[in-house]
Amino acid sequence: MNDSLDPTKTAPTAKDWILAIAPYVPGKSSTDDGRKVSKLSSNENPFGTPESARQAFRAAADTLERYPDAAAIELRTALAAHYGIDAARIIYGTGSDEVLHLAAGAFAGPGDEIIFVRYGFSVYPIATRRVGATPVVAPDKDYATDVDAILACVTEKTRVVFIANPNNPTGTYSSREEIARLHAGLPKDVLLVVDQAYTEYLDEQDDDGALALAETAPNVLVTRTFSKIFGLASARVGWGYASAEVIDAMHRIRAPFAFSIGASDAAVAALADHDFVAHSRDHNREWRQRFAEEIAALGNRGLRAVPSKANFILVLFEGEVSAETAYKGLMDAGYIVRWLPGQELPHGLRITIGTADEMTGLIAALKRIVGA
Ligand SMILES: *Cc1c(COP(=O)(O)O)cnc(C)c1O
Repeated sequence: MNDSLDPTKTAPTAKDWILAIAPYVPGKSSTDDGRKVSKLSSNENPFGTPESARQAFRAAADTLERYPDAAAIELRTALAAHYGIDAARIIYGTGSDEVLHLAAGAFAGPGDEIIFVRYGFSVYPIATRRVGATPVVAPDKDYATDVDAILACVTEKTRVVFIANPNNPTGTYSSREEIARLHAGLPKDVLLVVDQAYTEYLDEQDDDGALALAETAPNVLVTRTFSKIFGLASARVGWGYASAEVIDAMHRIRAPFAFSIGASDAAVAALADHDFVAHSRDHNREWRQRFAEEIAALGNRGLRAVPSKANFILVLFEGEVSAETAYKGLMDAGYIVRWLPGQELPHGLRITIGTADEMTGLIAALKRIVGA
C-alpha cells in the first residue's frame, strides 16, 4: 500500500466549485397529486412538434444501431442554407445548453470571471461554476439587461459574458444598438455569448444583429435551439455560430455524438416548415399581447407584466395576493406555471403562452384567484 494514501479519506471528494452549484430546477409537468394539467412552465411550443419533423424522427427508427454523423453535416448544411451563414463555423450540441457549457469550458477556468445579468438564464451560473470560474452578476434595470452595468463588471479576469436575448425568465429584449454597444465596450479577448433561444419569436424588425456580428467579429458566439419554436425540446438539438477559432476550440471538448440521427433529421425537417414556424410566431404575438393587456387590467390587484418579446411573460405580484398563492391556485385550476423563488423571484410567475383555450382558461382562473 502506498504511504501517501490518506486512510481517513473514505470516498471521492467533489470539487468545491462543483458543490457550489445549485442544481437546475426544471419546470414541473404534473401536479403533486399526479393530475394531468396544462404545462405552461417550460416555454415549449403549445402546438407540439411539426408533423414533418415527427415523420422524419419515426423514419430514423430504422437506423438506431448506427452512430450518428459526428460532423452533423446534414444539419449544418441545412442551417447554413437557411440563415446564409458558413457551415464550417457552426458548432452543435445536446441542446444549446451544451453549447453554453462548451463556451465556458473552452474559454474560462479557475481564477477567471464570467459575467451574466441578475435574473439571467439559470444555466449560466451552472456553466460558470462547472469549470471553476467565478460568476459575476450584473445588476438589472427594472428586470431588463443593463449594458452599462455589464460593462462596469468587466475586469482583467473577465473571459466570457453570457446574455440571453430575449432574456429568460424576464422576456426582456436588448436592441441592436445595445448589443452593438455592449460588444464595442468589451475587450477583444472577452467572448460575448448571445443566447438567442427565443429569437424566432421576434418580429422581423427586431433582429438584434448578433448573428451578423458573429459573422465578422472574432469574439461573438450566437447560440440557437430547436427546443422552443421548432417544437423539439426532447430532441436536444442546439447550435452556435462564431469565428473559426472560437468554434475550433469548442469542438475539442464537445461530446462526439451530440444527438441522435432522428433528432437531427427532425430538426432539418422543422427548419424547413415555414408554415409551422410562422403560425407559432403569429399565435404567440397575438396572445402575448392579449395576456399582457389582461395583466395590465389587473394592475389594481398589484399584478404587473414585465414587457416580453419571447413566448412567455413574467408576471410580478406586488399586491395582496402573492405569486406563491397564485401559483398554487393556478395548479389547482389545472395550469402549471413557473414560480421562481430559487432565482430571486419569489414574487414572480413565468407563464408560457399556450393555446387559445389554455390562455382563456388561465386568464379566467387568475382573475378568480386575485379576486378581480
Ligand atoms: C430554453 C433555453 C435554452 C435552450 O435550451 P436547450 O438546451 O437548447 O433545450 C437556451 N437558453 C435559454 C435562455 C433558454 O430559455
